[in-house]
Amino acid sequence: MPTAISWERATVTSSDRVSARCEELLDTRPETLREAARDFGGLVHAPPLGVLRPRSAAEIKDALAYAGPRGIPVAARSGGHSLYGQGQADGGIVLDLGELSAVGPVTGDRVEVRAGALWRDVLAATLPHGLAPPVLTDYLGAGVGGVLSAGGLGGASHRHGLVADSVLELEVVTGAGEHLVCSPDRHGALFHAVPAGLGQVAVIVRATLRLAPAPALVRRYCLYYPDLDGYLSDQHLLATDRRFAYLEGQARPLEDTAGGWHYMVEAVAAHQGPTPPDDTALLADLSFDSAEITDLGYAEFADRVAEDEEILRASGEWLHPHPWLNLLLPEDTAASVVTDVLADPAFTDLRENGLVLLYPLLTRTLRAPLFRRPHGEVVLLLALLRTAAPGAADPMVAANRTAFEYARAKGAVAYPVNALPMSPADWREHYGSQWGTLAEAKSVHDPHGVLGRGHGLWL
Ligand SMILES: Cc1cc2nc3c(=O)[nH]c(=O)nc-3n(C[C@H](O)[C@H](O)[C@H](O)COP(=O)(O)OP(=O)(O)OC[C@H]3O[C@@H](n4cnc5c(N)ncnc54)[C@H](O)[C@@H]3O)c2cc1C
Repeated sequence: MPTAISWERATVTSSDRVSARCEELLDTRPETLREAARDFGGLVHAPPLGVLRPRSAAEIKDALAYAGPRGIPVAARSGGHSLYGQGQADGGIVLDLGELSAVGPVTGDRVEVRAGALWRDVLAATLPHGLAPPVLTDYLGAGVGGVLSAGGLGGASHRHGLVADSVLELEVVTGAGEHLVCSPDRHGALFHAVPAGLGQVAVIVRATLRLAPAPALVRRYCLYYPDLDGYLSDQHLLATDRRFAYLEGQARPLEDTAGGWHYMVEAVAAHQGPTPPDDTALLADLSFDSAEITDLGYAEFADRVAEDEEILRASGEWLHPHPWLNLLLPEDTAASVVTDVLADPAFTDLRENGLVLLYPLLTRTLRAPLFRRPHGEVVLLLALLRTAAPGAADPMVAANRTAFEYARAKGAVAYPVNALPMSPADWREHYGSQWGTLAEAKSVHDPHGVLGRGHGLWL
């Protein structure tokens, strides 16, 4: 009937058009939903309503304009390496940022990166200019958006802080559907709520990152310590005098029947060749037992986990559950927490099929206000990285929770890339004095509370 048609036309608003476009673009195929309900952790499987693959900030804005007023959860997905469903949207919309992955241009000492890029792509674009991000995590297959949301820790953190501390400017779409460019001087409160902000207030579309000169070569020193006290004492010295470009370390199981551990500093000196680092000057005052020294190209060193990934993919273990626990320990209780957790029968499998990272960070270098850390000049990352047989992970997640509570009572803080159930009360405690700032930013920029629900911060 003509009158009805003209009535319909007259009431088709731009918001209706956005809704129609979002619904049309939503990929709801069963295999897509299954894939979006998977992450590296392999522990949480929350199928969304559908997946959108935005090609521009405008499309992200449309998605949030659609989802916000309807209260539909939205999760951004960059590399898909969440551990416990943090990048999933139960009954909501997953924004798969794979189409937004361009890197460049590199201009002077900075680079523009889209949030869906992987760090491997970022490094590939900057190295031809002799430059690299000042801090990289151990794994370059993670996504730009996800690492900036977590903070990002690596071997250069004792010198340069978080990966996220090198962000100069961000282009974001907030949960309220505002498309903004922010920096410390422009929409400063919003800018400070995004790096290490667990995707709670905005979806990162693009970041401008500061770069530093990249070395051509690195010399890697693996220094072995029989006892934890000697190890921690040298790690303190190395973190504070910053003689190495890169500093990490591990607890490693001894091949004895008594269940003992020894410890390994992994330190790297960068150089351009032909003059190699002075080993004697670097090592003379340290108390290690034995050392292995190797020379590597910088690019090979930076992407060293790629080889492990290939092996684990071939064996199928890459797709097994990963009940990982990352904690930041204050220096004064670190030795007792490490000793007790490593002796806990619930973590025995770490000896056979796991990796224990234990390395120092200098707190004054960690600048993003939402990145929480224990008190003290030096804190230690304790990363308990386990792989479970399919179906066997639940007790390991429960053990993570017990270890977290034990460590928290001794001043530890979670580094929130974890397979760790956390209640809103835990999060309030986690953020402490920053909780009010985060809650204020949330109410302004994500008033419908649709973003980042997978972390479980809010009731
Ligand atoms: C093998 C391996 C090694 C690792 N090593 C380190 C390490 O050395 N140091 C370290 O710090 N971490 C490390 N991690 C952890 C990793 O940095 C985090 O899990 C990171 O969040 C993964 O990012 P992603 O984009 O790949 O994952 P995703 O699952 O896509 O994203 C992770 C989280 O960030 C949010 N997010 C993603 N994109 C955006 C965006 N554009 N805007 C807003 N929010 C967004 C997601 O919603 C989700 O909550 C490692 C992980 C793996 C698998």
